[in-house]
Amino acid sequence: MTIRTIFVAGAGQMGSGIAQVSAQAGYRTILRDIDEKFVEKGIALIKKNLQRKVDNNKMSSEEMNNILSNLIPTTDLELAAEADVVIEAIPENEELKKEFMGKMDQITPAHTILASNTSALPITVLASATKRVDKVIGMHFMNPVPVMKLVEIVQGNQTSEETVNIIRQLAKDLNKESVLAKDFPGFLSTRLGMAMANEALYALYEGRGTKEDIEKCAKLGLNHPMGPFEWMDFVGLDSMLSILTNLWESYGDNRYFPCPLLKQMVQAGRLGRKSGKGFYEY
Ligand code: NAD
Repeated sequence: MTIRTIFVAGAGQMGSGIAQVSAQAGYRTILRDIDEKFVEKGIALIKKNLQRKVDNNKMSSEEMNNILSNLIPTTDLELAAEADVVIEAIPENEELKKEFMGKMDQITPAHTILASNTSALPITVLASATKRVDKVIGMHFMNPVPVMKLVEIVQGNQTSEETVNIIRQLAKDLNKESVLAKDFPGFLSTRLGMAMANEALYALYEGRGTKEDIEKCAKLGLNHPMGPFEWMDFVGLDSMLSILTNLWESYGDNRYFPCPLLKQMVQAGRLGRKSGKGFYEY
């Protein structure tokens, strides 16, 4: 299958980044949000990212203009009819995403692959809202998309090998490395990240060491670019709590039981970067 047009749904943090890497790779990229102002915000973010590259002599103005000319901002859902691949990055809500997948199934041609950037929802469930279960797949980009090298591809219960192969090639064309995960809670990357972060939380909560020393262990001992508390502030402590709760309930495994300290931080409204205060102040 030749991919010419990619339809990205949701022009938020993730969607705008996905549209940027898609346009950079030369794909005709339709960026859709529900309101003009969200689309404009997404496009402005892309322009800002590209302009920074131009200012740092990493890209010419001509290249930047070429990339921008690949982008088609819109609020019109029907433009999905032109897509070879849809990548949805709308809010993390099962009902919303299922409804969206159902609509895409009606609007797009039969060959179109429907990919979801969900962090944790089962692809198998999203696929059940369509009549093309073999063509629904997870394409889990990392934040910030233009910087992070990894895309975690998630194969639902009925996603075909052909779809997996096309999407692996697409990830490569977007200049990303990919891994393939089976469709179980936490996939691979979320599972690893959550287990490590919860362990760091318990170590602090039980008074086994200071926050600074736990950060140092991860950075200097394990060669992580950021410590677990910095990372949790970046992800958002409310998101951390809901993902850990989901993993704990799904596997019935106490290793994912959210540390009481995390719950307390969320109750205090200390959500990390997004609220200006978490384990650090911003
Ligand atoms: P966000 O809130 O920044 O953006 C979501 C956008 O979707 C908003 O602009 C909203 O107006 C728009 N939207 C809502 N309904 C829509 C619809 N029907 N069609 C088109 N647009 C619609 O959210 P985000 O952080 O970009 O997350 C999007 C998805 O990516 C979620 O599923 C999230 O779990 C996943 N994700 C997020 C991160 C992260 O670090 N933020 C990382 C990986 C995956």
